[in-house]
Amino acid sequence: MKIYDWKQTINKDELNNVVNALYNSNIIVFPTETVYGIGCDAFNDEAVKKIFEAKGRPSDNPLIVHVSNISMLKRCIKNISSIEEKLIDSFMPGPFTLILQKSEIIPHSVTAGLDTVAIRMPNNNIAKEIIESFGKPIAAPSANISGRPSGTRIADIKEELGDKVYALIDGGNTKIGLESTVVKVINNIPVILRPGAVTPEDIKNVVGRVELDKHILAEVSTNEVVESPGMKHKHYSPETKCILINIENERKKIEKINSMLKDNVAFVGFEKNRKKINSNNFYSMGETVEDASQNIFSLLRKIDKLDYDLIIIEGVKAQGLGIALMNRLIRTCAYNVIEN
Ligand code: AMP
Ligand code: MG
Repeated sequence: MKIYDWKQTINKDELNNVVNALYNSNIIVFPTETVYGIGCDAFNDEAVKKIFEAKGRPSDNPLIVHVSNISMLKRCIKNISSIEEKLIDSFMPGPFTLILQKSEIIPHSVTAGLDTVAIRMPNNNIAKEIIESFGKPIAAPSANISGRPSGTRIADIKEELGDKVYALIDGGNTKIGLESTVVKVINNIPVILRPGAVTPEDIKNVVGRVELDKHILAEVSTNEVVESPGMKHKHYSPETKCILINIENERKKIEKINSMLKDNVAFVGFEKNRKKINSNNFYSMGETVEDASQNIFSLLRKIDKLDYDLIIIEGVKAQGLGIALMNRLIRTCAYNVIEN
């Protein structure tokens, strides 16, 4: 495995190696503005299979196809509506994935047998340059073993997937830290299947309407049919048991947290609460929801190595980017949530 450090500049010789590796059915880890991706030639069944194997990803969970320009996007899809065109114009490139009717060129291995395909155009120079130089779309899920927190720093990913890929490309810590907003237009209404940095308000401002899938902040029961296969699976979880505290009243929240803290319990919360928490095991997510989103997955990986018996996590208000953060935290905690 090779590690390419492109934090300052993209090395052209190494870029050639990466492109050749992709042509030869290899898989690579590369940065995007959301989280790192583990990617391969989206038209190559053999390479796509390697990704499912490396991640231990359930075979019914489709991959997102990453493109670098509109004409590449249009080759992958068919029957696009005017609402979908508008969403593409407004949010691509960006932390936004749109589910569209797939064209014949996209293999069913990528879409897990579905006739739709998830398409994203990342807004990250390294990701753009790799896709553009390769000249074809790259299929890429998040760079982590299935069910684990997503990879947002190269050191975490090296530990987990280093021996399974051709190269790890280091573009520094990812800017957003949570995966893209996934949207499907159903009966002319954009429905958010997974919340992300493109918020419901952002979408409403562009097309006038938006809906949130009911599973975004709730558990999926066993026999339910879901719009997105990923909703059913275990996600973002450390090995240590986690509990989410979702209490609105600040004083009550701090009281509850303090009553639960012991030597073998870690607390993950906002910097402003450091002084109010009676514990040496305080781990800061930062000052803002943006900070927390950027840090959370790497922080959970770090704490997971420290032999605590329980991790208590402070929730945030489910609005704006907070919806995306809560969607991840609820799953991190396997729906163990203490409410008001
Ligand atoms: P990840 O690969 O970790 O970024 O997750 C991709 C998410 O997009 C998963 O939740 C998938 O289930 C979802 N997804 C990918 N393709 C489709 C599709 N064609 N229809 C619905 N959801 C999809
Ligand atoms: Mg993932």
